Amino acid sequence: MSDRLSLSSAIPGDKLPSDASRRVDVVDLVEESVAVFGLDMRVTAWNAEAERLYGWKREDVIGGVIQAAVRCSPSQPLKVILEKINQVGIWRGEFVRRTKSGATVVVKAKWSLRRDLAGGPIDIVETSRDITDVRRTEEALERVQHQYQSLFKSSVASFFELDFSEAAQSVRELLDSGAVDFRAFLQNNSGYVRGLLEMIRITGCNDQSFLTFGDGNRETLLRSFDRLWPDESLGVFAESLVAVFEKKDHYSSEVVLLSLAGQRYDTLYAVSYPPQLLELTRVLVGVVDVTQAKRATTARERSERRYRDLFHFLPVALLQLEGQEVVDIFDEARSQGVTDFSDHLKTHPELLDRVLNGLKIVEVNDRTVSMLRAQSADEFKGSVARYWTESRDMFREAAAARYSGKPGYEALVKMPAHDGTILDALFFSVFSPIPGEQNLSLVGLIDVSDRVRAQDMLARVQAEIAHAARVSVLGELTASIAHEVSQPLTAIGTNTEASLLWLEHSPPDIGEVRELAARTATEVQRAADIIDRVRLMASRTVPEQRSVSVNLIVEEAVLFLRHELQRNEVTVSLDLASELPQILGDRVQLQQVVVNLAINGIQAMALDNSPTRILTVRTAAALDGGILLEVEDTGPGIDVNDAGRLFESFFTTKATGMGIGLPICRTIIEAHGGQISAGSQTNGSGARFTIRLPTQSCRSQPPASPSGGP
Ligand code: ADP
Repeated sequence: MSDRLSLSSAIPGDKLPSDASRRVDVVDLVEESVAVFGLDMRVTAWNAEAERLYGWKREDVIGGVIQAAVRCSPSQPLKVILEKINQVGIWRGEFVRRTKSGATVVVKAKWSLRRDLAGGPIDIVETSRDITDVRRTEEALERVQHQYQSLFKSSVASFFELDFSEAAQSVRELLDSGAVDFRAFLQNNSGYVRGLLEMIRITGCNDQSFLTFGDGNRETLLRSFDRLWPDESLGVFAESLVAVFEKKDHYSSEVVLLSLAGQRYDTLYAVSYPPQLLELTRVLVGVVDVTQAKRATTARERSERRYRDLFHFLPVALLQLEGQEVVDIFDEARSQGVTDFSDHLKTHPELLDRVLNGLKIVEVNDRTVSMLRAQSADEFKGSVARYWTESRDMFREAAAARYSGKPGYEALVKMPAHDGTILDALFFSVFSPIPGEQNLSLVGLIDVSDRVRAQDMLARVQAEIAHAARVSVLGELTASIAHEVSQPLTAIGTNTEASLLWLEHSPPDIGEVRELAARTATEVQRAADIIDRVRLMASRTVPEQRSVSVNLIVEEAVLFLRHELQRNEVTVSLDLASELPQILGDRVQLQQVVVNLAINGIQAMALDNSPTRILTVRTAAALDGGILLEVEDTGPGIDVNDAGRLFESFFTTKATGMGIGLPICRTIIEAHGGQISAGSQTNGSGARFTIRLPTQSCRSQPPASPSGGP
């Protein structure tokens, strides 16, 4: 065997002569794997490389069929291969084989048929080489090439394949001629740079390039690379050239490019260079249109800058808050089915503390620092809890507003400043509607301490004027009041005299005396009631908000004016709606309004000597849910020339009038959130004053003084 092939069969037990062993070494040293097998495929020889490649030792393989060792799938069926080798003595092809460890290897093999002297086939010598890695690389390359081609064709980016050779030649000549600083030269010679651009030819480009930069004609674009470059962008092109001569393999930058149709694009320009300058015949350039993205970024940056400027320089205290913990508390409450969060907080006060502590101040502007009398923004680190000690209720309502999905909340609050001063502030909060930013909110504060002080003062002055007006009404009513008080007093006197007479009887008529004493007690009560009403009108109380019945107020006012009405022969017609809701307001002030309007009506009818004198007071439920109160007379009505001035302070048409009755009525009604207007009776000439009052909302402070008022 050894004289047929310089390769040991390595059959166990074979003793090899030393010279043969030397020859075996030679075959074992070749880089290829060598296997010898008969036409029956039984292996007779197996070299060292075959052992290494397939993992099988020669003693494992020799004697068995080769397929048993290396299960393989040849590129052609074995039968075809054997036919071919029989005919021409040689076959070349590839096998995918399995090694002992189960790994797959690809081998490139050559089978040679050895014949004996008579030309009969002896065996087949296979030399093969492991090309697994080569194949893998080839496949990867193919994949990349495929990807590259599809990217090139279908990408939203524009790709150009450029021939730089002429331009590169020109640059080489320039450098050879001794120009040292290439970058400086390009910077100072835009004409030269333009010239280089004109030398560059587009050798290929994708569809997107035509769409973005073309003008409809493919050929024109291929000839016009330089036309894509406005002068303002030559610097970038020059830099891209410097990069290649600095041996960089790529360069990218943002640059403005023009389409042949004149459209300007903000682009990202990327160019990759081949490693050899000499190969500048094929340079790939990618251009991505970032116009929209850039515009969006610029707009966002601008709006962010504007927001920051506003935040910091607005003369309003602004605080940026973060409250992930609050969002979690909300989620918790939602999972428990809570709908009224305000109520929930009332029943769980400890939760309100958690919300307060969970809301953290992230940033404050300068105005916040000065308004809350701090030294620097650093003092605001931490939760908002310290600012809500005086207005916890308002904070609770703000949290409830946020919980129920309202876009914001505002309220007048009392807020402790860092030096301990309690400020009156208008607090407003804007809750972020941006998904993912629900934990953020913006809070603003406007110091209204001065305004609140001014309003307090105004309210006091107005209360005093109203009081003065009431006292003046009492003055006008002195005669009536005196008469009213004298009536029960006279009755008491008469009763007392009669009682004495009955006591003098023999025996004294105690029954009569008891009855007279009872009547006297009634008269005393009547006198006391009159005095109470007068005292109420004369009282100097701070206006208060209570739940009051408008019908009751009307009845009391009529009772108060009973004698004045009688004295002026005025009939009162009360048309009061039953089941009216109560309103929130000040009983004395509202009664003052009805009394004022009634006295005006009585006076108008008396001055006019009206033959019929009816004062009608009507109450009704208004359509909007409030209350309607009308005071109507059968007097001469309101002079058209005066109509616009009735509510002006000191406007009067009466000789002894003061002209403050109606303006005070208006101030009081507006402070109750209502309106008052003057008009005419529907049937007849008399005046009618109409008041609308809301059932709930009542401002604690009157909104303004009477127009042109004191
Ligand atoms: P004064 O009663 O002191 O004049 P008011 O402010 O109460 O002050 O009234 C202003 C003016 O409005 C009256 O002088 C009068 O001209 C007109 N006026 C008010 N009520 C009536 C009414 N019921 N009928 C006609 N005119 C009225």
